[in-house]
Amino acid sequence: MGTFESLEWVKRFLDETPGDLEVGGVSRQVPNACWSRVNPTIPPDPKLMLWSEEMASILSLNRPDGIILGGGKVIEGMDPYAQRYGGHQFGNWANQLGDGRAITLGEVKLENEVLELQLKGSGITPYSRFADGKAVLRSSIREFLCSEAMHHLGVPTTRALSLVTTGEKVLRDMMYDGNPALEIGAVVCRVAPSFIRFGSFQIHTANQDYTTLKILVEHTVRTHFPEHSVSTDEEIVKWLTHIAEQTATMISHWMRVGFVHGVMNTDNMSIHGLTIDYGPYGWLEDYNPGWTPNTTDAATRRYRYGQQPKIGAWNLARLFESMVPLMDEPSLLHEALSNYSEVFAERQNQMWVGKLGLGEFIESDESLIVELNALLQEVETDMTIFFRQLCSIEEPEINFLTDAFYDPNNIPTELWNQWLSKWWKRVDGTPNRKEMLNSNPKYVLRNWMAQLAIDAAESGDFSICEELYHLLKKPYEEQKEFEEKWFKKRPEWARHRVGCSMLSCSS
Ligand code: AMP
Ligand code: MG
Repeated sequence: MGTFESLEWVKRFLDETPGDLEVGGVSRQVPNACWSRVNPTIPPDPKLMLWSEEMASILSLNRPDGIILGGGKVIEGMDPYAQRYGGHQFGNWANQLGDGRAITLGEVKLENEVLELQLKGSGITPYSRFADGKAVLRSSIREFLCSEAMHHLGVPTTRALSLVTTGEKVLRDMMYDGNPALEIGAVVCRVAPSFIRFGSFQIHTANQDYTTLKILVEHTVRTHFPEHSVSTDEEIVKWLTHIAEQTATMISHWMRVGFVHGVMNTDNMSIHGLTIDYGPYGWLEDYNPGWTPNTTDAATRRYRYGQQPKIGAWNLARLFESMVPLMDEPSLLHEALSNYSEVFAERQNQMWVGKLGLGEFIESDESLIVELNALLQEVETDMTIFFRQLCSIEEPEINFLTDAFYDPNNIPTELWNQWLSKWWKRVDGTPNRKEMLNSNPKYVLRNWMAQLAIDAAESGDFSICEELYHLLKKPYEEQKEFEEKWFKKRPEWARHRVGCSMLSCSS
């Protein structure tokens, strides 16, 4: 274990792609560039409040103070920059977006991989537009806890190393309703092989800068997909098919655990198929495929739980389109897109095999699943509790699952018992319980759990954050000592509370 100084810092992205000639500077368009060098803003009183021991041990880092991780000091080897990218936001092309509140410190070379360390919330960059480049404690806690929890759930994700409070107050209008308030400022250090997004490529195609597009594609493939090359159309399609598969895998995991990303804009889609940019995400409590936590998306609910797989395809189509200038025969791209649908369907089937302990997927399972989906929506039913308790059901009787219902006096008992009998027959009374227990987590970061952690942390007590961080390292284990406190349905107070049932992009 060592310090930031003992890490081996490399600059693959800066060395291999074109950048901005200016360092820092005001918000502006930065044509033909993939990045701009910037200096993190020095925080007045940085304090390390949360630390991921797992991530730290991967990086061989001892727990430091908050200075470097709060953006207060740039050491030799680091070369901070903000990435330039574009994106489709809620279906509309937004052109240049970029890291408006994220600054990469550098890339760290480890024995078997290279990881990028990025600060989120450490001040303005040329991509900050009218905003301040800062982040508040509540959104930083949500990112720290959720990205680590997702990792332990087995969902591909960027990771978090640390959370530092800056000692500065940040003004935010949380619900965009004209009621701004000063909040505690914070910086999360997040970690991934890279933070390259679909929008990183799109921006160059949109700007008709095919030279930069080609350089970025070649850098990405050489650095992150060394088993691929992109010198022919067929090779490009093969690479994109790989990305589509990883994206399908990621989204099928979201569906399995009940995660709703909330802002699946193409600038928030990682080229590695990692869950990225934790904003107004949420977890299904009541199983409602139409639910989205994001109030900014309330009108069309474009990014609702049940639509995530389709949006994955839409976003991939935008990525694929951006590759057209590099190809002679762009119609080949259809193959990669139809592959996404096939792979996703297959992953979904596997997901249900796990969730229902089916052993293997057979054709008749399709109707079993369709019926289950409909039944789960009949009355308010808690997704996590339902599936977890299904793992240990002794007989096909809904009485064993009553805890999963929000109104115990209103359970469609007969319909459920019919379905349970059908499922029981399908599995010969012996569902693969081990597989079920590994597919249906007992603990997820329910919206109200994160909110309790935030409320306490805002008054200086990080103990709930710590407790949840440790609890969510073992989401598939019983952890009986935490059952009463955390294995339960959404409490009534959280039903309409901002931060629990409603979140905005404000962070
Ligand atoms: P998001 O969809 O939340 O990931 O962010 C969309 C865009 O807005 C990205 O370009 C962000 O960098 C930018 N952005 C969001 N919040 C801020 C902020 N507080 N300061 C500067 N830029 C921001
Ligand atoms: Mg983003």
